[in-house]
Amino acid sequence: MFIKNNREVFPCLVPASNKLKSFNFFLVKQENSLTLIDAGLNTDSCWNSLQKTLKDHDYALTDITGILLTHHHTDHIGLVNRIVSTHSIPVYAHPYAKLVLNRDKEYMKMRVEFFRKLYQEMGCGEIGEKQVADLHNPIILGENKKIDSEIQVIANNQLLGFDILDIPGHAPDQVAFYHKECKWLFAGDLLIGNIPSIAFIEPDYDGTRNKSVVQQKKSLEKCLLLDVDHVFPGHGMIIENPHDLLKERIIEIDEKANKYINIIKTGISTASGIAQIRYKEKYEKQFFNIMSEIIGTLDYLELQGKINKEMKKGVWRYYCNNISS
Ligand SMILES: [Zn+2]
Repeated sequence: MFIKNNREVFPCLVPASNKLKSFNFFLVKQENSLTLIDAGLNTDSCWNSLQKTLKDHDYALTDITGILLTHHHTDHIGLVNRIVSTHSIPVYAHPYAKLVLNRDKEYMKMRVEFFRKLYQEMGCGEIGEKQVADLHNPIILGENKKIDSEIQVIANNQLLGFDILDIPGHAPDQVAFYHKECKWLFAGDLLIGNIPSIAFIEPDYDGTRNKSVVQQKKSLEKCLLLDVDHVFPGHGMIIENPHDLLKERIIEIDEKANKYINIIKTGISTASGIAQIRYKEKYEKQFFNIMSEIIGTLDYLELQGKINKEMKKGVWRYYCNNISS
């Protein structure tokens, strides 16, 4: 439990069996509100953790006055339907999250086409086709993940006592809830203690590709400027004095980018080729994550002028600027 200036945070950290370590969500008690920030997975262990945390502090489920979502991923919205089925409370999210969470038909159709074209152009061939057929990555868009309640779009810079900061990168709709007075930052999956957060490639509203790694770096830099003494992340341990870790994550983006440049220098020119050299057998198993990392990083390098690309027979070929003709 964290207490400052009559505000309290009751964390729910539900153990995960993978490298994420835990699925986290947080109850924040302020004068007239008990807000849930994120809602874990739709599992009994998350549900029981929420119930236990409420009970330990003499609250009931019906005391929750609102839900804030940091982004639309499945592991952050899981309990929303269960909670709103007991009592009707507002659920707030970024406008993009609303589109996805309410499973807008046109958007979903566009999304499938987006990935089909993307993987083709990145030289993924049959493996890419198969991935599109199996759509989608369960974290991003699993089955039966439609949110039943009406999503309230976050439209202001302030909500329920928090400053709202856009921090895209991990997801295009990721927002942070910043309590300036308490120096608390609820930042979704922007910063995770034990592993770098993945910057997922996703289509924007109109089907254009988000420059996820570029966004991720900017979002990390934005948080570096804030006066924060605790980051409450979506996974893993709560992070005290986050500045050094934020700097480390920024440096890691460039380190990874340099590794890809070195692969391109050996003559490997497609995103799929880089993935296979760099990640070997993991390429197929973690296709969606790995292709996101690589395409996002290639976009970042291209924007920096370090590489350029050329379309040949429907596939993008990447070249380092100093060796290309
Ligand atoms: Zn997450």
